Amino acid sequence: METKLQELKDEALKVIEAAGSPEEIEAVRVRFLGKKGELTQILRGMGGLSPEERPRIGQLVNQAREEVESRLAARFSRLEMARMQQRFEAERIDITLPGRRRRAGTRHPFSIVLDEIVEIFAGLGFSVAEGPEVELDYYNFEAMNMPREHSAREAWDSLYITPEILLRTHTSPVQARVMETMRPRVPIKIIVPGRVYRRDALDATHSPVFNQIEGLVVDKGITFGDLKGTLEAFVHALYGPDQKVRFRPSYFPFTEPSAEMDVSCFACGGAGCRICKGSGWIEILGCGSVHPNVLRMSGYDPEEVTGFAFGMGLERIAMRRYDIDDIRLFYENDLRFLEQFRVEGR
Ligand SMILES: [Zn+2]
Repeated sequence: METKLQELKDEALKVIEAAGSPEEIEAVRVRFLGKKGELTQILRGMGGLSPEERPRIGQLVNQAREEVESRLAARFSRLEMARMQQRFEAERIDITLPGRRRRAGTRHPFSIVLDEIVEIFAGLGFSVAEGPEVELDYYNFEAMNMPREHSAREAWDSLYITPEILLRTHTSPVQARVMETMRPRVPIKIIVPGRVYRRDALDATHSPVFNQIEGLVVDKGITFGDLKGTLEAFVHALYGPDQKVRFRPSYFPFTEPSAEMDVSCFACGGAGCRICKGSGWIEILGCGSVHPNVLRMSGYDPEEVTGFAFGMGLERIAMRRYDIDDIRLFYENDLRFLEQFRVEGR
């Protein structure tokens, strides 16, 4: 019996070493240690042994079982490991392969210039206000001191939707809307960026849709000097401290007195060239003290408070900034154009 046990154990260990997969290991376990396994059969056959022999043989059988079990477990985990290794090799990802570059978009020159302008005015204490592009005739014209029969209305080639509703021709109606919600509180200190619409044909310098930036300040004791100081500070922040400005008398229905502000020509520095048409100056915005009628209509007493307003075209400022001579380039969304406006870190 002892010899048979020894043979059986040797055979089991040999077969275990020869097993090539976890499945084969399982088959070996069943063959020797299963319910009808060969080692199990020996235990069953112990009934025929003498009572003296039984404990000794029993111990030998148990030792053999234990040895076979531990070899099975060791071989099993080695095979499992090898299989995993094989899988890792097969599924290996080559991390040295360069990734596909994702093309980042660029910011539109309008956004870049507008952000810059908003930042400058924010530094001067202004906040941003907005209003609807589809506007009532009342806010667009009447509240801006242009009643129905006013001749100045003809200067705006307006796009009417109904006799009472139009696409706003300027950002000025937002002045009235903000004053109506704020009255009678002061100060008001806002800038209003936004799209405006005119019945204009598209050419190198005109577009039926363009962008304005409006400004409004209302407070006690605001003077034309405050207007000049604010706009000079703005121009110096935008174009540099050496930039000269001048104010020329002008006319707008909603300001009194009114002025146009010019900056010295970038191209010739004031000597006169083709771009400034020989004058040495370039017009960049219209401005003035808020007309008493405008204050009154929006619920403020012109005896109590005064204010100033200004408006400029974003297109014109962006064209100067980037030396662009055709306004249409802004609206065509040609990537070759747009990709030139990369701002570091954005
Ligand atoms: Zn010039």
